[in-house]
Amino acid sequence: MDRIIDLRSDTVTVPTQKMRDVMRDAPVGDDVLGEDPTVERLEAMAAERFGKEKGLFVTSGTMANQVTVMTLCQRGDQIIVHNNSHIYNLEVGGLASTCGVQPRAIHAPSGYFNLEELNREIHSPDIQRAPTTLICLENSFDLNRGLAVPRDHILQICTLAGKASVNTYMDGARVFNAAIALGTTVEQLTKGVDVVATCLSKGLGCPVGSLVMGDAAFIDEARRMRQRLGGGWRQAGILAAAGILALEEMVDRLAEDHDKARVLAHGLIELGLGVDPAQVHTNIIYVDLSPVGFDSARFADALAQLGVKIKPVGPMEFRMVTHKDTHSEDIPMVMEKVKICLERLEQ
Ligand SMILES: *Cc1c(COP(=O)(O)O)cnc(C)c1O
Repeated sequence: MDRIIDLRSDTVTVPTQKMRDVMRDAPVGDDVLGEDPTVERLEAMAAERFGKEKGLFVTSGTMANQVTVMTLCQRGDQIIVHNNSHIYNLEVGGLASTCGVQPRAIHAPSGYFNLEELNREIHSPDIQRAPTTLICLENSFDLNRGLAVPRDHILQICTLAGKASVNTYMDGARVFNAAIALGTTVEQLTKGVDVVATCLSKGLGCPVGSLVMGDAAFIDEARRMRQRLGGGWRQAGILAAAGILALEEMVDRLAEDHDKARVLAHGLIELGLGVDPAQVHTNIIYVDLSPVGFDSARFADALAQLGVKIKPVGPMEFRMVTHKDTHSEDIPMVMEKVKICLERLEQ
């Protein structure tokens, strides 16, 4: 059988040989004591890249989100989130159980909040209501669609939040993808946002790690909150070395993943599947099977038997994610297998 083509997520990417080499040779120390030079280098590099004062290296995107909310909010605060966001749906209830905040989820089609609605939901404390202290954005938006939310909308939200003295946070797990899709830099795209986080372990190919960037006072306190969660680590420079390489060498190539996604999306449309090409902004393709009338679990099983893995995300919907370990020769191969699969299921 041919090689397995895994399009479930960009989290399946494995470190490059060069990444493994720099990890092996990284100078390290005890990071809880502030003595790991490689971690310090990565954090400084990240802060500079995002135009913020300081950075903090954490284990995962989930930890980045939790640490940020724990640092910026008091228990009992209300925070505003997108109804389809990762922080609200996929973190095991951490906002409630770990941070003790009350999330208010707002419908935000394609990552756009309705500004009037947003304004209405910003409560100041009174005898009955929880104060709103944080607005969480996500970019790219929605892990099953990867839509890039442009800077104008983000700035509007930041202005609105600033007037109400509410902090803003961008969960930018895939913010490098968003910036590339919009033809801008992450610094420009996150300007005005108080805190931003990004994942190193998705499209950038690192084995472990996320970064949180913000002002110095925030990061100093976030470091304590990371410790509270058991996220203080020792010779983490082994992992940070991969992060440095990723920031230096793995960012620009994300454009190739977007190209592969566009080609694949067009191929799927030709085969009769429901894909909106205008919604393929980055490396994620959201596919609707209802035009061909199959359910996604059955379709995913059939395709897996042919060596292509996809992720069902609804009864008739699945996603495909292109990444550095998707070769360009894989795209026609995937199309061929989807075609075979459609013919088989029709019988
Ligand atoms: C993947 C992801 C996370 C969580 O990252 P982990 O490293 O898997 O914990 C958070 N937010 C978004 C938008 C993501 O895509």
